[in-house]
Amino acid sequence: MINYDSSKRILVTGGAGFLGSHLCEKLLSDGHEVICVDNFYTGRKSNIIHLLKNPYFEVIRHDICFPLYVEVDEIYNLACPASPVHYQSDAVQTTKTSVHGSINMLGLAKRLKIRILQASTSEVYGNPEVHPQKEDYWGNVNPIGRRSCYDEGKRCAETLFFDYYHQNGLQVKVARIFNTYGPRMYPNDGRVVSNFIVQALKNQNITIYGDGRQTRSFCYVDDLIDGLIRLMSSPDDFTGPVNLGNPNEISIRQLAEKILDITESDSTIDFAPLPTDDPVRRKPDITLAENSLRWHPKISLFEGLQKTVDYFRSLFKGRDKK
Ligand code: NAD
Ligand code: UDP
Ligand code: UDP
Repeated sequence: MINYDSSKRILVTGGAGFLGSHLCEKLLSDGHEVICVDNFYTGRKSNIIHLLKNPYFEVIRHDICFPLYVEVDEIYNLACPASPVHYQSDAVQTTKTSVHGSINMLGLAKRLKIRILQASTSEVYGNPEVHPQKEDYWGNVNPIGRRSCYDEGKRCAETLFFDYYHQNGLQVKVARIFNTYGPRMYPNDGRVVSNFIVQALKNQNITIYGDGRQTRSFCYVDDLIDGLIRLMSSPDDFTGPVNLGNPNEISIRQLAEKILDITESDSTIDFAPLPTDDPVRRKPDITLAENSLRWHPKISLFEGLQKTVDYFRSLFKGRDKK
């Protein structure tokens, strides 16, 4: 393939989603050409509408479960619903996206002899028996539960990435992304940060599932995107898997209280049953990313939540005006 300058043609699958749209935006601002491939299952036009006037940005409506023939220099494979509510609503399609979709994107990368990055997940660790989670931990995953379509699909995708690496010498990069939040999460997404902020801003009850003592570690979207780009440009022999997330662990109850403080909401807390197989604790060990990618998240939970609350406030203000 002919490349005339240092700017690259970059394919982002799932580019109209929450993380994908931020990634497309950053790659364009870094001077690259971006092809966003998305079937709009959970993605939205509104996430990328501001990019459409850029002649270096192109959108293809396409399901990656089917073959795709384009000419590009790099692939970021982010296509896959990420919220439990969405990935469980069509579980078979979720597994197909991770398995058939990865095979197609790997086949594309193999034909073009280019780098391909997989957006894997902390869910590959399941309900972890090791804390914090390091990349060499193999996980504790239920293969037949409601979360399995996502967890096992992502685990199989990792297997495929490493089989193409061993069998075909493909340059693969695998990021294990921990809970990430920020502007452009969908109000009805079902994930905890968006649910709590939307409930707080609407003065509705905050729904904590279980007793709220389960923990997560939340990373702001800009930090995560920086980590993905560093991983893609890491040396040839660095494949990962590498954890990308913020190690600042917090209980879901504490998160609810923080969001109530920031929004100055009158909402009260309600408790609802804990979904099955909901992991009890989750916190990344990011030593590998710190040493190999010189990456460390910079944005505190307080600052990130403020930015996210501002986003939802302006979203609702815009809707009220309409
Ligand atoms: P999202 O649901 O906002 O985005 C996923 C995008 O993929 C959507 O635009 C959707 O329409 C598209 N998509 C789904 N199936 C597709 C298919 N078959 N073909 C083409 N497009 C398809 O989710 P997100 O939070 O932006 O997550 C992006 C990626 O990062 C996912 O692979 C997810 O598993 C991974 N990840 C995200 C998080 C997080 O906290 N946000 C954590 C771990 C991993
Ligand atoms: N593929 C694709 N675009 C390409 C090359 C391949 O979508 O540019 C798909 C193709 O459908 C194929 C899959 O990737 O089935 C895996 O390709 P690979 O070369 O690994 O295997 P094979 O072609 O032998 O099935
Ligand atoms: N959760 C909650 N209330 C909500 C949504 C989620 O208490 O309205 C809990 C959920 O049970 C889990 C945690 O918050 O323990 C994180 O949930 P999310 O779906 O955001 O991500 P994941 O479980 O995939 O880490």
